[in-house]
Amino acid sequence: MPFLFDAPPVPSLSVYGSDARFPTHRIYCIGRNYADHAKEMGAQTVSRANPVFFMKPADAIVAGGGDVPYPSVTRELHHEVEMVVALARGGRDIDAAHALECVFGYGVGLDLTRRDLQAAMKAKGLPWDVAKGFDASAPVSALRAASDIGHPAHTRLSLAVNNEARQDTDIADMIFPVAEIIAELSKLFELKPGDLIFTGTPAGVGPLVRGDHFVAELAGVARLEGRIA
Ligand code: MN
Repeated sequence: MPFLFDAPPVPSLSVYGSDARFPTHRIYCIGRNYADHAKEMGAQTVSRANPVFFMKPADAIVAGGGDVPYPSVTRELHHEVEMVVALARGGRDIDAAHALECVFGYGVGLDLTRRDLQAAMKAKGLPWDVAKGFDASAPVSALRAASDIGHPAHTRLSLAVNNEARQDTDIADMIFPVAEIIAELSKLFELKPGDLIFTGTPAGVGPLVRGDHFVAELAGVARLEGRIA
């Protein structure tokens, strides 16, 4: 049966050292995964009992960075630098002990956020989708295959804007490490090959304005550079 019109293209990411691209299925995100960021956002305590998950549409990817359009409606676009996990295998109720076997590789991305809209939605107890899931809200680097570098556990994650350090942490400080994020997500969703997971941001989130140049880095793994256009 033919489609009524051309099917939308599959968003994809390049892979360091390969000609093949990583086709993206869904983008999952975890919130409040670094205690210092949860605190700066006003959370009094960080609960390990209830991880906070949300999603972005797959076509929100800006593959490899470059020009990122300033989104409509907001007056407070914020950067959140995050390690991004790319899955080559999925499943339901995945055991944390085996979860890393699902991982294809790792990259670095920005969970761009319309912070003013998020604050307004939070205040009313409404969903945050418009604050998180907008067009071009997910710039992501090329991916580094785990078969090349293994599974990084102690690695520097940083963001500079206009050559000024804004965010800097070690991924060892994540409240839910990668294996536990996969295990928790797989209780809620059937994970699939092609899924991406944004693993949360450390303290130091702040505004981006038109013309800002950003460099995000997961040391020894991936680098993302671009400009707010
Ligand atoms: Mn985030």
